[in-house]
Amino acid sequence: NEFEDYLLKRELLAGIYEKGFEKPSPIQEESIPIALTGRDILARAKNGTGKTAAFSIPVLEKIDASREEIQALILVPTRELALQTSQVCKELGKHMGVEIMVTTGGTSLRDDIVRLGSPVHMVVATPGRILDLSSKGVANLSNCRVLVMDEADKLLSPEFQPVIEDLIRQLPKDRQILLYSATFPVGVKQFKDKFLKKPYIINL
Ligand code: AMP
Repeated sequence: NEFEDYLLKRELLAGIYEKGFEKPSPIQEESIPIALTGRDILARAKNGTGKTAAFSIPVLEKIDASREEIQALILVPTRELALQTSQVCKELGKHMGVEIMVTTGGTSLRDDIVRLGSPVHMVVATPGRILDLSSKGVANLSNCRVLVMDEADKLLSPEFQPVIEDLIRQLPKDRQILLYSATFPVGVKQFKDKFLKKPYIINL
């Protein structure tokens, strides 16, 4: 397979090649075409397999930069991972005119509120902060049709689980969920049964 096979926007393809990616990795070969069709995904994936691009590429492809609304949310368990993930998205989406915001706990809420006064198409966040912004009416998730959960085993730990469920209630009914997890503890299984619609299972 080749990245050209996915019929991506040429601005996105340019970002992929500039990053030095020549061919899709196995997780990317499985994820990208399925995610592009709009189907939910449940993937068992370790770090270092190229999973960040496996979800970032289809998510970027789905963004319509001419619409000034949050269209995708990528949830991660830590600030460090949020920064890394948003960096990858910014590089891949460099030529697309996509505005990507990072928001996590431990930083100024005021700065985030100011940032949300300008267009944001995509948010990379830890759960507590984005729920806070959404509950305050500052971040509007009602047009956010794509949700990625990376390191979902950590995101669905008992402390985060209610926050994630509250967040999902803010999304439109016809949302797509792409879930990546290294392990499948009971929290992930319960989440799958409750929120994923006929997910495509990836087990690499
Ligand atoms: P990740 O699993 O997302 O943390 O990615 C692991 C490493 O693989 C990162 O350094 C990526 O830049 C790199 N990578 C991801 N996809 C590809 C690809 N298709 N070709 C070459 N390197 C890649």
